[in-house]
Amino acid sequence: MQIRNPRTGEADFELEVCSTELIHKKAALLRASQPEWERATVQHRIAVLSDFAAALGDARATLIDALVTDTGRYHESVLEVDVVINNIKRWCGDAAVLLSMPPARAGQIPFLEITQSYLPYQCVGVISPWNFPLLLSMVDTIPALLAGCSVLLKPSEVTSRFVSPFRQVLASVPALHRVFDVVTGTGETGQALIDTVDVTCFTGSVTTGRKVAQRCAQRFIPAFLELGGKDPAIVCEDADLDVAASALCWGSMVNAGQSCMSLERVYVHEKVAEVFIEKLTNCVQNLKHNFPDVTAGHIGPIISSAQIDIVKGQLADAKEKGAKVLCGGEVVELGGGAYCQPTLLHNVTDEMKVLKEETFAAILPVVVVTSDAQAVQKANDTEYGLSAAVFSRNLDRAYSIASQLHAGAVSINDASLTALVHEAEKQSFKLSGMGGSRMGKDAIMRFVRKKAFIRNTGTPSPWWF
Ligand code: NAD
Repeated sequence: MQIRNPRTGEADFELEVCSTELIHKKAALLRASQPEWERATVQHRIAVLSDFAAALGDARATLIDALVTDTGRYHESVLEVDVVINNIKRWCGDAAVLLSMPPARAGQIPFLEITQSYLPYQCVGVISPWNFPLLLSMVDTIPALLAGCSVLLKPSEVTSRFVSPFRQVLASVPALHRVFDVVTGTGETGQALIDTVDVTCFTGSVTTGRKVAQRCAQRFIPAFLELGGKDPAIVCEDADLDVAASALCWGSMVNAGQSCMSLERVYVHEKVAEVFIEKLTNCVQNLKHNFPDVTAGHIGPIISSAQIDIVKGQLADAKEKGAKVLCGGEVVELGGGAYCQPTLLHNVTDEMKVLKEETFAAILPVVVVTSDAQAVQKANDTEYGLSAAVFSRNLDRAYSIASQLHAGAVSINDASLTALVHEAEKQSFKLSGMGGSRMGKDAIMRFVRKKAFIRNTGTPSPWWF
């Protein structure tokens, strides 16, 4: 399969599409190795994962190079590699305590003693998207491996250049490679993978998430889904407007808006709208594309070619229906890549796609509201429920608004904090996902089944015939 380079627009990489036979073979090998991995102590698994973190560190430059080519951006790629290494170290620090079995205890019926045990799923399938190719491939993989599962990973076909150096790192830690493998390919590869695993962790779009959930349901295997969003921000009239403007400029434009928790709508109180919009515009129009120097600027290219038409379509729809472009407003071609200009839109209405559908680009529509209640009503008027942000100097008011928002995580007086704070547990609401929290310590418990041993300590049970 030919893969397009987002900076040049040219197909410069050939991706191996793994056959169904190969996927089944790899899954069988993982399953054969998993029991030994499970039987080994958690300390052994921590030691192996620590070796893997060190090997990733040794290959840091090569991995960053591949990710930069995959995504056309530099700073986020450096961050991805470093965050993954840190995540492994953090999980290695936490895993032993989290996976320790609770002691045997007396049940409500006094002569019964209960012992709990945790049994890892044998093989976990991970399917990841293109916006953070390495990070989102590893976020579920690390706790699953530490829990004692084997993992079969399929990254997005749009950004799979990193797989080759990644596989070399994996091969340098044979004890891990026996229980962790990678297959490459398209959606069909993903479907075939689901047919071979015991749990699926999927990060991607709602459309695909629905197919994944259906396939998993047919097999009665759990599907943990982390899907799209249309995150709202609410700026109250008592907010620090400099803080709100700077935070929203970052939270909507970082990674060129190609993050699930990107802020994609702002509802600002009419009393401060003019001043706020001026501050936000000043901030956004200072942002530069990372072209021609990939290490400079702030905004990279649109990574996925399929996304280019979606972004152009939403901009055209908004303009046609009367939106005012405060800055930006176009997708421009630079050196063959497609770059969305950092864009602020005003006079947007609920009928416009840019307020209803996920945009996934450096575009932020601003809507003026007359009250907190109207802001909350509009913010909740969406089929998504990933995260949100609220800005107010009055904390009671901020928390009151936050608690009314139908979203799994709300940043207060800042933006998109859920991406940075690993210990805050959250679930996705509505179409943004399904399953337990992937953040926080509980995330590892998604990969074990709880099993109970219940022992009669010696009293004949009164309910016996
Ligand atoms: P996508 O749904 O198109 O693809 C995601 C992955 O699924 C890819 O690896 C793809 O090959 C695979 N796939 C496609 N069809 C499949 C099928 N029928 N069965 C199994 N696998 C299949 O998503 P994308 O365009 O790569 O990513 C962007 C989307 O991901 C956005 O909607 C974004 O909001 C979402 N996302 C969510 C989070 C989160 O944590 N909630 C994080 C990042 C991205």
